[in-house]
Amino acid sequence: LEDQITTVNPTTGEELEHYPYHTDTEVTNAIENCHKAFLNWRHVPLEKRAKTIAAIGKELTANKDALGQLMTDEMGKLLKQSGQEVDLCAAICAYTAEHGPEELKGDERTRLNGGKGLVSYEPIGVIYGVQPWNYPSYQVIRFAIASLMAGNGVILKHASNVTGTGKMLEKIFKDAGLPDHLFSTLVIEHDQSDAIIENDLIRGVTLTGSPSAGRKIAEKTGSELKKSVMELGSNDAYIVLEDADLELAVKMCVKGRIYNNGETCIAAKRFIVVDKIYDKFKEGFVAAMKAIKLGDPNNDESQLGPMAREDLRETLHKQVTKSVSHGAEILCGGEIPNGKGFYYPATVLGSVKPGQPAYDDELFGPVASLIKAKDTDDAMRIANDSRFGLGGGIFSKDEKGAIELAQKHFDTGMIFINTFGLADPAMPFGGVKDSGYGREHGGFGLKEFVNVKSVILG
Ligand code: NDP
Repeated sequence: LEDQITTVNPTTGEELEHYPYHTDTEVTNAIENCHKAFLNWRHVPLEKRAKTIAAIGKELTANKDALGQLMTDEMGKLLKQSGQEVDLCAAICAYTAEHGPEELKGDERTRLNGGKGLVSYEPIGVIYGVQPWNYPSYQVIRFAIASLMAGNGVILKHASNVTGTGKMLEKIFKDAGLPDHLFSTLVIEHDQSDAIIENDLIRGVTLTGSPSAGRKIAEKTGSELKKSVMELGSNDAYIVLEDADLELAVKMCVKGRIYNNGETCIAAKRFIVVDKIYDKFKEGFVAAMKAIKLGDPNNDESQLGPMAREDLRETLHKQVTKSVSHGAEILCGGEIPNGKGFYYPATVLGSVKPGQPAYDDELFGPVASLIKAKDTDDAMRIANDSRFGLGGGIFSKDEKGAIELAQKHFDTGMIFINTFGLADPAMPFGGVKDSGYGREHGGFGLKEFVNVKSVILG
């Protein structure tokens, strides 16, 4: 049926659930009700808002098993990683409850003429979030908790394939004591989205997803003169320098590539290794990727589950075959296995060069691209030779030199030194170039959708 979303379990290929689309009237009502709830919530003191945020964290933990299982059923991530995701969500709530009031409390300043001025961070209204399926709880929590802490209301359009998770989060928020309608999940089609952005009561828009969805939503939001935050994909480079601890580099690079079935915006994707150690790294890396156990995400022994949707696997495989037809070589994997489920094996491509999707685009799955660099400068040049700029990594025993490279040369929003990384509530998260703009976490996310207000006393 076309008037509903049907979710599919990527491990079995079987249907999970049906969700009828909301009508346009239901959508308008949800926005109006959210705005009404916001009119009260904006006056709730910061400390009291923080208590509700802390309660949401506890409610997430109380629902860890059910929420984790639902995420695995809807998008195929390893069950143990679903649990880690719920833990991270609870940690974000705890962090926000602890630091939010301080971040948002504002301050008093002395003006040029010696007079007094007050700066405060006031909420702006209802924020519309369009979110992806790869971390179905985390992506929602990171923008919604910041928006709610700042005193805003939240309307969510979640990715269709994780509609159940969106609905369950709505229930968790409500059960934790968040006022009714302040957080609402809409089940809508793409063409219902423009009217939401046009609605006067929507005051900000945030999207995490592909650059193409980002461009559409950002364009529409810009034409409405509303602020947006865009967290888009990337093709992150991890550079392995001559003095790297090779064993550590191989271990972290493999983890960084396959964590969450390789479906992470900030995953390690291009591995740029200097000539002198290239062969050694390649040998260790390919052997480790070959050994990755593909299997049912509910099974504790599996290291890599299925991809979230069949079409995503097709896209990935096309990117691999196109890269090969343009000169890349398959060092392991690269073939769709027989049988049910949308599995794709851990794959390594060698001889990756400009003009191949593996070099130019984002490969959103367990496929690693190996690139040889002449030296450190050349590795840095190749890393920055991308239209994306979300994250990146450096492996080197010279920590000072690595920090210098990270801060002064790496053209991305986040850099990991001798490790791979995901989100940290204490650290700003976001990118440059086609990876988008704006920041989440680290206190910055709290201030993306606020009215930074000046009150000047005469
Ligand atoms: P999309 O960017 O298409 O989806 C992300 C969200 O945007 C979903 O909620 C989707 O809804 C929504 N969306 C997309 N287009 C529109 C539109 N015109 N109007 C309103 N909402 C829209 O990602 P895909 O699921 O198609 O994945 C494709 C690629 O995106 C991946 O291969 C990867 O490269 C990138 N991606 C990046 C992520 C990141 O973390 N930065 C996360 C996920 C994907 P719906 O589900 O209904 O289509």
